[in-house]
Amino acid sequence: MTEPARLKSVLMVLRENAILILMYLLGAALLFLLWWPLGLIYLVYCALSNFLYMARVCPYCGHYAAGTCPAGFDWLSGQRYKPREGLDFMSQFRRWSIALYPGWFLPPIIGTCLIFREWSWLALVLTVLFCGVGFIWLPVDSRRHCEKCDNLDCPRRRGKMKVVGVE
Ligand code: SF4
Repeated sequence: MTEPARLKSVLMVLRENAILILMYLLGAALLFLLWWPLGLIYLVYCALSNFLYMARVCPYCGHYAAGTCPAGFDWLSGQRYKPREGLDFMSQFRRWSIALYPGWFLPPIIGTCLIFREWSWLALVLTVLFCGVGFIWLPVDSRRHCEKCDNLDCPRRRGKMKVVGVE
């Protein structure tokens, strides 16, 4: 990899993870409003669920093997997870990505409950910011990588595969 390409990928990894960490911190702040230990439990859960994702999904991704993961999960895991025969990326993604759902959906659910039950501007602002970062900024940013990705096994590419007639 050339030096400019390496720098670009380092910046990309920092950017991807900074947005994700920002989302988790906003989520922790929301849960903190409900009960402060919940914010800490949430952060620990998010970290563990991401490592579970690295262990169960990433090894089946072409980016992981090539060392070109935009989120740098190949670096963060030290490439210590090896693919096993008979499993593919799509089935692993469907099976294990559910572990990430609480990190994404718990904060807006708790935030909505807080807004309706114990109105506060802080809960409203945190909920709106969380949804803006998690459901708009992060997906839009990630889509830029997906468009150029050559992982044909990824569920996100199914629309494109049908267009070009590949099953
Ligand atoms: S692109 Fe996604 S699935 Fe692939 S290695 Fe990176 S985080 Fe894992």
